[in-house]
Amino acid sequence: MTLFDAELETRLTRYAALDSQSDAASATGPSTEIQWTILRLLADELKAIGAAEVQLTDYGTVLATIPATAQGPTIGFLAHVDTAPQFNAKGVKPRAIHGYNGGDITFPDAPGLVLSPSDFPYLATKQGHTIVTASGTTLLGADDKAGVAIIMTAARHLLENPSIPHGPIRIAFTPDEEIGRGVDARLPADLKADFAYTFDGGAVGEVEYESFSADGAVVTVKGVSIHPGTATGRMVNAISLAAKIIAALPQSTMTPETTAGRDGFIHATDMTGSASEMVLHFILRDFEREGLAQKGEILRQVCAAVQATEPRAEITCTITPQYRNMRYWLETDMTPVDLARAACARIGVSPVSVPIRGGTDGSRLTEMGVPCPNLFTGMQNIHGPLEWVSVQDMAQATQLLLALVQEAAAPST
Ligand SMILES: [Zn+2]
Repeated sequence: MTLFDAELETRLTRYAALDSQSDAASATGPSTEIQWTILRLLADELKAIGAAEVQLTDYGTVLATIPATAQGPTIGFLAHVDTAPQFNAKGVKPRAIHGYNGGDITFPDAPGLVLSPSDFPYLATKQGHTIVTASGTTLLGADDKAGVAIIMTAARHLLENPSIPHGPIRIAFTPDEEIGRGVDARLPADLKADFAYTFDGGAVGEVEYESFSADGAVVTVKGVSIHPGTATGRMVNAISLAAKIIAALPQSTMTPETTAGRDGFIHATDMTGSASEMVLHFILRDFEREGLAQKGEILRQVCAAVQATEPRAEITCTITPQYRNMRYWLETDMTPVDLARAACARIGVSPVSVPIRGGTDGSRLTEMGVPCPNLFTGMQNIHGPLEWVSVQDMAQATQLLLALVQEAAAPST
C-alpha cells in the first residue's frame, strides 16, 4: 500500500462508472450531454477540497487553481473526461483486483475474454498490484479517468498540505479529446499557465513530447447518374471511381496496419454515398511536416490520375490541417520536458520518451503557445474491453506530479 492507493482506486472506479463518451458526429460542444455530468461533479469536488477559482466554462472545461505556497512558474495539469467512441462505453462496471496474482484475468460479463500477461508483458510486471478493469462488455475509460483521478488526488493532497512548496497550479478537465476537439480556442488564455502537462500517457516513465503531425482529407467523387436501363455509354458510377482511388493508394506500405515507429500513413476512415456521389474521409499522419505534405501530395495525385481516366466525373480533394508535432515548439525550449525528467529522477523512475502515434490535447495546446508534454498514468489496452490500469502505477504518477511542482519551485540543479 502506498499513500494514495485507496483514494485513487475510489476516484477511478467512481469516475469510470459515469458514461461520458464523446461523439464525432455531434456538432455541439461538448459533443455529448452526458459529459456535463462528470464535469459538474468534478467542479463540485474541486470546490469541496478547497481549490480556488473553480469554474465550469461554457465550452465544457473545468478550471481551478491551487494557490502558490512558494515562488515558481504557473504550471497547468490537464486530463480529459470523455471516453473513446470506438467501443461500448455504456454501463461500465469497474472492478478492482487486489493483490494481482500474475495470472490470466477473466471477465464476469464476457466468459471467453481473457487478459493474459503472456499477451501483455507489462501486466506480468504488476504482480501484487491492484488491477482495475471493466467487466468485459465495455471499455474501462482509464483513458483518461486515470488522469483525472491522479490530478484530483494530487490536488487534494497539496491543498491539505500547504507546507509542500510549489508555485501556482492550474487544473483543466477537458471534454472531447478523443474526437480531437478538446482544446477550445479560449483555453490557452483561460488556463493562464506558463506551461502544462497532460496526464494521458501509458506505462510508468513515459514523458512524451513528440506527437504526430496530422491533416484530414475529404475526397468527393461526383459521377453521372442515370437510369441503369438507359445507362449505356452515359453512366459514370462514383462507387467504381472511389474504389479505384482506394486501390491506387499505397495500401501495403502506408496504412496504419502496415506502419510502425516513425513512419506515417494515409488512413481511409470512412466512405459513404451512392453511384451518383461518394464522399471519402482520410486522416494523414507523419512525424515531420515534409512527410505529411508528401502524403497529401500522394492523395492529390491519385485523385488527379483517377479523374484523368474519367473526365465526365468530378473529383475534389480537400486537405485540412488538424494538429502538429509538439516537438517543433518544445525543442526550442525543453524546460517542461527537463522538469518532468528531473521529477522522475526524484521518485526513482527512469523517464522514457517515445513518439506518440497520435495526438493529445497537448499537441494543440503546444501549437497555441502553451508547451504541453504528456505524462504517464499507467493505462493500458485503451479503447477496448481489455483496458486495464494498475492503481500503484497511478500512485507513481501522483508522486510525479508532486515531485514536479516541487522541482519547479526549487530546482535541484
Ligand atoms: Zn486519452
